[in-house]
Amino acid sequence: MSPNEAMSRPARVNPEAWTNAVRGAWLSGGRRVTEPRLRVLTTVARYAAPFTAEQLYTDIQTTGDEHPGRATVYRTLEQLSSAGWLARIHTQGGEVGYAPSFPGHMHHLVCTNCGIVIAFEDCALDELLVRLAAQTNFAIEGHLLQLYGRCAECRKR
Ligand SMILES: [Zn+2]
Ligand SMILES: [Zn+2]
Repeated sequence: MSPNEAMSRPARVNPEAWTNAVRGAWLSGGRRVTEPRLRVLTTVARYAAPFTAEQLYTDIQTTGDEHPGRATVYRTLEQLSSAGWLARIHTQGGEVGYAPSFPGHMHHLVCTNCGIVIAFEDCALDELLVRLAAQTNFAIEGHLLQLYGRCAECRKR
């Protein structure tokens, strides 16, 4: 499944589709898919809400048979993040966590109640950026956009 197919409708990143997509990217990039790295991947895929590197490290030490070291956990997170497989999510309190995402121009909806993260790719900021650039004479090079609110499940409660 290509990221585009996976993202046809904004939804929580499917853990299995995400894990398979990352494995595919590792293999085609000539990266070895080792047991410790795979363990990091499957643990990451299970988080429904943003997690920190330290939280992931602790969870990995206390579950399962394979216990990758801190360096492997942090290095794998770094690599996933810089390749776009993890998004850096800012909570309203200012903390930064990671959430599974897809490479490319993505933005995220974050539920302030349960923490669920929904990635979406249609960014409709073009007009605003053109207008702002003209008004301020800024050469705009990038932007961050993250939306907060209550997800469909939390709204039912
Ligand atoms: Zn929610
Ligand atoms: Zn955008």
